[in-house]
Amino acid sequence: MVRPPFRTQRERVSHALQRRATLEAMRRPAALLSGIDPCDADPLLVRSALHHGVLAARDCPVCTSQRLMVLNYVFGDQLGQFSGRIKSAEELCEMETEVGEFKVRVVEVCPDCNWNHLIETYVLGDGVRRPPPRRQRTVEDIYG
Ligand SMILES: [Zn+2]
Repeated sequence: MVRPPFRTQRERVSHALQRRATLEAMRRPAALLSGIDPCDADPLLVRSALHHGVLAARDCPVCTSQRLMVLNYVFGDQLGQFSGRIKSAEELCEMETEVGEFKVRVVEVCPDCNWNHLIETYVLGDGVRRPPPRRQRTVEDIYG
């Protein structure tokens, strides 16, 4: 996976330390007693990963599966109804010049053991505030 350069990337926060701490905690016998289970991805998240995810350039840290997927979720007031959606790296590049500011949460998901963890967050956008996109009718509006 080659990450395109994001021109406007800022406020990047890596969650690598928390990820490592979670993995270490899982391997301690106490984890079995406490009922901690980070391999708790819900079926919807796993399905999203299989349909929209990009293969991570590493194996699953829990089961060594090579199907570890990465998903980019976008959030922000300026996204209107599109806040909370999954976007590809190419879409994020386009959004940089279309949206003033939005947050990206990068999550890794293993479809084989349900491991899931936040990898990093960052902010993108050209800083130009615009009204959120007009609400469009969605499948949920029609059939929901
Ligand atoms: Zn796994």
